[in-house]
Amino acid sequence: MNLNSSRSGVPQAHTPPQNIVNSAPSGVPLGNAPPAAYFQEDWRPDPASPLPLHVQISSCFSARISSGAWPAGMKLAPQRELCRLLGVNRSTLMTALGTLAGQGLIEGRRGGGTRVTAADNHSNNSTAHGSWSDYLEEGTHYPNLPAVQAINRLEFEPGLIRLGTGEPAPELLPGEAMTRVLAELASRPLPPLAYEEPLGNAGLRSAVSRQLLKQGIQAEPGSILITSGALQGLQLIALGLLPRSSTILLERPSYLYSIHAFQSAGIKFSGLQVDESGMVVSRLAAETLRTRAAMLYTIPSFHNPTGIVMDETRRQELMAVSGGIGLPILEDGAYQELWLDAPPPLPLKALDREGRVLHLGTLSKAASPGLRIGWIVGPEPVIRRLADIKMQTDYGASSLSQMAAARWLDGGYHEEHLALLRSRLRERRALMLQLLDAHFSGLATWSAPAGGFYIWLSLHRPLPLRRLFESARRAGLLLNTGDLYDRGDSRHLRLSYAYASPDELQRGLPALAAIIREPVNV
Ligand code: PMP
Repeated sequence: MNLNSSRSGVPQAHTPPQNIVNSAPSGVPLGNAPPAAYFQEDWRPDPASPLPLHVQISSCFSARISSGAWPAGMKLAPQRELCRLLGVNRSTLMTALGTLAGQGLIEGRRGGGTRVTAADNHSNNSTAHGSWSDYLEEGTHYPNLPAVQAINRLEFEPGLIRLGTGEPAPELLPGEAMTRVLAELASRPLPPLAYEEPLGNAGLRSAVSRQLLKQGIQAEPGSILITSGALQGLQLIALGLLPRSSTILLERPSYLYSIHAFQSAGIKFSGLQVDESGMVVSRLAAETLRTRAAMLYTIPSFHNPTGIVMDETRRQELMAVSGGIGLPILEDGAYQELWLDAPPPLPLKALDREGRVLHLGTLSKAASPGLRIGWIVGPEPVIRRLADIKMQTDYGASSLSQMAAARWLDGGYHEEHLALLRSRLRERRALMLQLLDAHFSGLATWSAPAGGFYIWLSLHRPLPLRRLFESARRAGLLLNTGDLYDRGDSRHLRLSYAYASPDELQRGLPALAAIIREPVNV
């Protein structure tokens, strides 16, 4: 990084060029706003304290500014948002901000919100070269979409009903079984917590190899790389296998549009249409030629966000067409095991006779997102290349997590938990479908998913989704809107029956229908 590059001017908003983010001609400019710096801790002034609330706030903010935690130039969250986060009224907040402004610690800028005052006014906040704020936009990795940042923050605010969250609710996670796994580990002397070998813990790779066989995938432990979740698998592939300015083909919409792993590596997307049988492949060869695509990414089973399962014929067709043009495939099997009615067709990797498919798996969706254990399966030279980058990134996933994951799989815990999880998800899916029938029939259409977590709600009329998100938030609902998964979208919501409790679904879905029905609310 050129340390001086950003000093002279206003930092450039570091956002992916629209054409890199999405090949859509018209896009909601989700990526165009610089990330706002929010007050995102759970500190709140204490009404029982003898100190007035505004004094508590100004002292807390002042301490953060003088410790350098809030650097010069950092923008504070909008005042309405601060009032909400701190649980105070506007006049209390204004008094506190007035005190800080009087001390020269913050300043209001016309149209620019309130910021921490420039570095030369209080020395702790500056670097040798200028203000930290100048650096924040400079790294090679794009920031998350502001909407994704907001979701990541709001997911930790108590009281919101999370209607779109893509992970099992805490009560669906195997707390007790995981405690037994950890107790088993602790009952014998632990091996030293040394670095693991580059491909990951050998016992875990063997366990994953046996697990994959149940899904029809033959993979020797030497063809498996353990990653910190499937997300790291995506990062490693973006960094290690694809040239900058190459293009990948993918379903549109897709989970991949909601993260910046590929765009940050300079890779462009070209979205392919999806129907009820999965990715449409009739234009695949032409599109590969036109874009000179380097790879195709797909989530064939219980797609995120549409819930669609690519049927067997389409899988065969995809393998045949891509084989004809030598197009490598990255298959994301994150939801593969989460079938609710019948197992999905064999993964593409199981149909692969040429080593053309890379396959991603994870323990996050069924067992434990916090373990951060996933894997990549592929030809050995590719796996070694990715392992080499992983060694340069983090020297391997946590060895404790890897040992726990090996015991989890080998001890039969995984199968037992999957059976339980499936039955709970079936109940929640039934409830969500019933509530949708009762409250959304005039407003939207949807299909019953055969597994995974998601229902892709298709609204009858387009809506400004950012405004809908805000209205829903004010009503206590957290939404994953369709524009996260397809920048041009204005008529979908990704609903998840995995997170909100039955009671929350019963309160949340009618409330959402009311907001959508009444345009004045949006
Ligand atoms: N792929 C897909 C399709 C996903 O939905 C997710 C999580 N939302 C991931 C990969 C990443 O999951 P993790 O890193 O937790 O394994």
